[in-house]
Amino acid sequence: MLLEELNELVQSEPALDLNAVVVEATLSLCHEEKKESLHVGAISARANQILGERGELLEMKPKTVGHRLKALGVPTRRLDAAGRGLFLLDTVRERIHKLAVAYQLPPLRGVPSCRHCQKQHDTPRGEIDRSKQDSEDHGAVL
Ligand SMILES: [Zn+2]
Repeated sequence: MLLEELNELVQSEPALDLNAVVVEATLSLCHEEKKESLHVGAISARANQILGERGELLEMKPKTVGHRLKALGVPTRRLDAAGRGLFLLDTVRERIHKLAVAYQLPPLRGVPSCRHCQKQHDTPRGEIDRSKQDSEDHGAVL
């Protein structure tokens, strides 16, 4: 089976699992020290690594990852010559953590936890309204 066919096959399935992989990749990268921004290329590389570890042959392209992030309420923007990505504002980090809870991702291993991780432990699963936009709470303009 061609990779393109496989891609189509997976993308015609409910998007849930691949979105979860994108969230997992973004979450782990946003804990790297002194990161101010994340390129979509780096997120897709990490996402593909996660997929590979699970024995998946599928590879997500940066463009696909960008679309998924946008659908998850974390839109990317052009950062520099290397392309699009996310500025890791606190509201963005918070949203990524909430998405991780919503997708019931396991706790991160091997990365320092941040204050959003701490807060996550206090939030019972299932209490998060995924349709709600966080920016309403903070009045932050991204
Ligand atoms: Zn964290």
